[in-house]
This record gives sequence, structure tokens and C-alpha cells, in this order.
Amino acid sequence: MANQAKYIFVTGGVTSSLGKGIVASSLAKLLQARGFSVTIQKFDPYLNIDPGTLNPYEHGECYVTNDGAETDLDLGHYERYLNRPTSQANNVTTGRIYQHVIDKERRGDYLGKTVQIIPHITDEIKRRMLLLGEDGRYEIVITEIGGTVGDIEALPFIEAVRQLRWELGSRCVSVHLTLVPFLRATGELKTKPTQHSVKMLQESGVQPDILVCRAEHSLGEDVRRKLALFCNVTPDAVIESLDAQTIYEVPMLLRDQAMDQVVLRKLGLSAEGNPELNKWESFVANLLNPEREVRIGLIGKYVELKDSYKSISEALIHAGTEHRAKVQIEWIHSEELTPENAASHLEGLHGVLVAPGFGARGFEGKIEAVRIAREHGIPFLGICFGMQASVIEYARNVLGLQGANSSEVDPQTPHAVIDLMAGQKDITDKGGTMRLGACDCALEPGSKLAQLYGSELISERHRHRYEFNNAFRAELTAAGLQPVGINPQNDLVEIVTIPTHPWFVGVQFHPEYRSTVEAPHPLFTSFVEAALQHAHV
Ligand code: GLN
Repeated sequence: MANQAKYIFVTGGVTSSLGKGIVASSLAKLLQARGFSVTIQKFDPYLNIDPGTLNPYEHGECYVTNDGAETDLDLGHYERYLNRPTSQANNVTTGRIYQHVIDKERRGDYLGKTVQIIPHITDEIKRRMLLLGEDGRYEIVITEIGGTVGDIEALPFIEAVRQLRWELGSRCVSVHLTLVPFLRATGELKTKPTQHSVKMLQESGVQPDILVCRAEHSLGEDVRRKLALFCNVTPDAVIESLDAQTIYEVPMLLRDQAMDQVVLRKLGLSAEGNPELNKWESFVANLLNPEREVRIGLIGKYVELKDSYKSISEALIHAGTEHRAKVQIEWIHSEELTPENAASHLEGLHGVLVAPGFGARGFEGKIEAVRIAREHGIPFLGICFGMQASVIEYARNVLGLQGANSSEVDPQTPHAVIDLMAGQKDITDKGGTMRLGACDCALEPGSKLAQLYGSELISERHRHRYEFNNAFRAELTAAGLQPVGINPQNDLVEIVTIPTHPWFVGVQFHPEYRSTVEAPHPLFTSFVEAALQHAHV
């Protein structure tokens, strides 16, 4: 099938962290709400093959797709907004591009040619930029380019965009996101950084069609006209992006300025009618007008950088909104929790969520948090490392297995209740070698969880190396820690609960990756509901 898809490229200028991912997602939402099939992909200019090996302090959360790709956290936004899964093809890094080209060179595929950034690297970038539009699945492909225009490492991507604009003609639109700062001393919005940023793009041969300007104050007609004049865009293509109360308001803010219509017109697509956003708008209305509040402690070791737990905090927002409740997240550093202070640190919480993680630092604090939640009947959700902590806590404090641990944290532990499975033992590479992506999980027939999910066979995404050690399964079950979700292919324990506790669930997988605005995750909605009940006992 001939590739007839339309392509939208989103670049950023002036500074990073302007919210390119949210703008791209919001535009995609508007187009989807008009009936177009849309996908979003992210091209990141760093040399890592994927963000899987990056410390969360460097790059925030690593988001995992169904097909097991370890990706940028913006893909989480794409899924949460569009309610459609992404895949490996939706996140490409410079590292992956180079690896592919160098592998080809080693095979001799270039037939003696000198392999160069232009055309070989740029051709590979272009090939991947076009890929998702090729099989007719998507009418519109939005590509977000990571980093900021002017970065040396982003140059090949911008060059690829320049070439594609030439090749695709009217099937292609370029959106540039910039900052219009407000100078308090003079009370003015300043357009110069945007002018410079656009000039820089133009020097690379790319003329943006649409400007999205992050600003603290509304641009006003004069600033809009000035920007249009200096940057070669039509005045209706200067869109402001003011700070919103929630990221989920941004689609409406862009719609109110007809950004979707401007984009469609430039792409030669029909802009008749309006995007159908009823469900979305009622979600935002509920989110902004909660009737009650619930306090959930999020116990992790990267709490200084909240982006490390992006999907979890968003899943809690989705779940809270279902119950018309504001979820107040108390960020608690696991390194600060000790057997002596844990009870007082967690006092007043209505729910305890022990977060995923790696390595020994702060792990004992997580185990203490589990103990308090278990002993005090506080609703508990343990995710991945958090689930593993709950198994260890139970083994130590209920079964009396002193020194029980994960062999990740203590390779000498006498009771490795969490351990490496045979398949992982000989692996030395760190990148892409964990259990990754969607796996089946069979729920106990008739159980509360099966009711919650509305199914006895579910599929959830994984990202871990260590597993519940089945050698301890019978003993732990007899002592009251019930495995209620089992992988039917390999018999691994995926979910544990304590039936005598008001709400205690540990999951080896990451439910947070699957929660979207339109489909909040049942585990999170049930957890927040239990926390709301706990708030009233
Ligand atoms: N460190 C644990 C493992 O590798 C848990 C990983 C996680 O929490 N994502 O098994």
C-alpha cells in the first residue's frame, strides 16, 4: 500500500522541559477525537540504545511497552492520552540508529561506500520516521524530536526533518515549541528567544508552520502578530500554551485556539466539525472538582525526582478521579525509614504504595513500610520491587526466616525468597535482558482480583530480573501469603495477597503502564477505593 500518511514533526527550542510530550499528546488527542487514526513516536538524540540502562535521576521513569521495549517516559503520555498501545517502533535513539548502520557496514551492505552521517545516518532516521505510516494503520504520525534545537546531537534528526519536508511536501507539518518569558521588571512578554530559536531552525533548513509558545501570561494580539511576522508563520498558527492546572487540560486549551484546525488545513485534511471530547472533558471536570481527599504514601528511593514514578502518579490520578477523590501523594524516601521511625513516618496515611526499584539502597526502608501497612491494616500496593519487599517482609516477620532477602540485595542470604530464575543466571549484559513486556497471568477463578479485572486471564507488563522463589511457595501460602496470580507458561508467581488484611496486593508486574484517562487501571481504582474506606474508619 502506498504510504499516504501525513507527518507532523514537533521540535523544541529555547529550553528543555517545556512539555513537548504533552503538546504532542494533546494535539494527537484532538486529531484522534476527530476520527483520525494517530500515533506518536519519539526520537531521542542520545547514544544509549534505549533508556533501559539509564538511572531514573538522569531521565525519569523508563516506560515499558507491550512488546517489551524500554522507552522514554513520554511514551507513557502518548498511551495515557490516546488509549492505544505503543511499541518498540515508537521510540528511536541515536544509539539505535548508529548500531543499525554500523551493523550494516560490518556485513558489507554498503558495498565499499564511505559510510557517512549524510546520507547513511539520515536515511536510517528517515526510514524509521516514515515506518509507522507505511502499513495503512495510521493516517497521521506525529514525531517528537527530543532535546532542543541547536544541540549538536540533534542535528542529524533536524536534517532528516528538512529532507522529509522536501520529499513529503504538503503531507508534512512542522510544529515548534518555544518559551516566551515574562520579564517582571518591565511587565513584558519577550519574543526574542523565540525569534532566535526559529532562526536556528531556519538555518538548518526547516521553516516551522506552527509555533506553540509556552508562557506564563496570555500572548495577546500584538505579541502574536509580532511572532508571526518575525517567524514567517500565519498569525492563527501562533498558539499559546499557558501553565495549566493539570496536563489533561492542554487538549482543550489547544482546541480553543483551533490548533487542530490549523494543522489539518495545512495538511490538506478536512477540519469540519469538532473533536469529540465529552468523555475527556468530564474526566477533567471531575479531576478539578474532587469531593474528597485521600493520602497515599509513595515509598521509593528516587522521590527527589518525581518523574521517576510518572506512570504511578498518573495512574493514581486516574483512579482518584474515578472516585471523585483527590489523591494526595506523600513522597517518602525509603532510605529514611527505620524499624524505629517507620510507624510515625507513615502515620495518617490512607494507603501505602511501595514502588519499583533496583539495588540495596533504601530497600530495608521499603520492607519496613510493608510491615507497617501489614500490621496496621493500611491498604497496601507493592509494585515489582515493592511486591518482592512484601514477600521478604512476610518471610522474615511471619514465617520467622531470619535474613530472608532477594539475592539481588544479599547474594549470601540464607533464604532467597526472591531469586534469579535459571534463565537469568548466565546473563551478564545489563541492557534489554530483564523479563520485559506483556506476560499472561492467570487469576484464581472467582477471586476478588478476577472480579476486579473482569477476567481470569490478564496480561500485564514486566520489567525485572528476579522472581518469587517457588521453593518457598508452599510455606508462604500456608502462613497466609496467598499467590493468586500465576504465569500459566512458566508457573511464576505474579500476584500475592493477604486474605485476612483489608487490602494487601503485591504485583510482580507494572500495572501503572496500562492506566489511561479512558481506562483507569482496576488495581489502582480498587486500591484508592480501599484507601478512601480506610480514611473513614
Ligand atoms: N530489582 C527487582 C528485579 O530486578 C525489581 C525491579 C523493578 O522493581 N522494576 O527483579
